[in-house]
Amino acid sequence: MNSREYFQHEQIEKGLIRIIGMGNELSYLIIGSKKAALVDTGAGVGNIREYVESLTDLPIIVILTHAHIDHSAGSFYFNQVYMTAEDAKLLDMEFNNSQCNEMKNIIIQFVNATNPQIEELTMEEIVTPYKRKFELLSDGDVFDIGDISLEIIACPGHTKGSVMILIKELRIMIFGDSCNPNVWLHLPESTSVLEYRHSLLRIKSREVEYDRVLLSHFPRDINKVILDEIIDVCEEVMDGKCDEIPYECDECYNAYIAKKQSGEDYNIQADGIVGNIIYKK
Ligand SMILES: [Zn+2]
Repeated sequence: MNSREYFQHEQIEKGLIRIIGMGNELSYLIIGSKKAALVDTGAGVGNIREYVESLTDLPIIVILTHAHIDHSAGSFYFNQVYMTAEDAKLLDMEFNNSQCNEMKNIIIQFVNATNPQIEELTMEEIVTPYKRKFELLSDGDVFDIGDISLEIIACPGHTKGSVMILIKELRIMIFGDSCNPNVWLHLPESTSVLEYRHSLLRIKSREVEYDRVLLSHFPRDINKVILDEIIDVCEEVMDGKCDEIPYECDECYNAYIAKKQSGEDYNIQADGIVGNIIYKK
């Protein structure tokens, strides 16, 4: 029997709880008067469904910002899960034994990379994925959970089917992985910088509707001006004026970091700006 604590949580404000998984991935539980909405589900280490059900008795709607397994794997603990069609394709695998084990190994690598000090995870601690159908999300969908409503706003970029989520009454926008200090835009499933910038300009047009933004990885809190910074970075990339630092990783080639990082804190760039992107040519 494993006595590991898989999750932690903190109340951000009334009706809003942040859940922190073992890979420091962040999910959000929004509690209305009739239902609760879980936005993202963590990497699938430990049963997030049981954890969330210990925080609320309300029926739970599960919404994914995008398909990457550090946010979607925990969704296999739930029967009904909303995601865009584009990103559902990314997770559309057969999940026979070899695929299932491959996914579990990716989860182990992700969590170990974040916590090199933890004892080795066992396969039993990790969700078993299965071939499933998702409920499909579209731009403009609104979920009314009772006194709180969530609007889905398409934001193609990090993945083609990524969305941001506006919690209207709380004046909060969940940016997810779509706009953070190091946006990954170099993945096969990412869009061009041009298309990503267009997505951010659409978000910018909604800026008067939110005061605070939430990310799906650390840092926990970030100023909403990061949106403007990243729009500027995209323009620098397109104008050929960025630093263009070659970026090495296992599965990427022709990838570049737009702005030179400060060295001490990868979330701050050498010129003091927070926003940065990694893109492909
Ligand atoms: Zn992601």
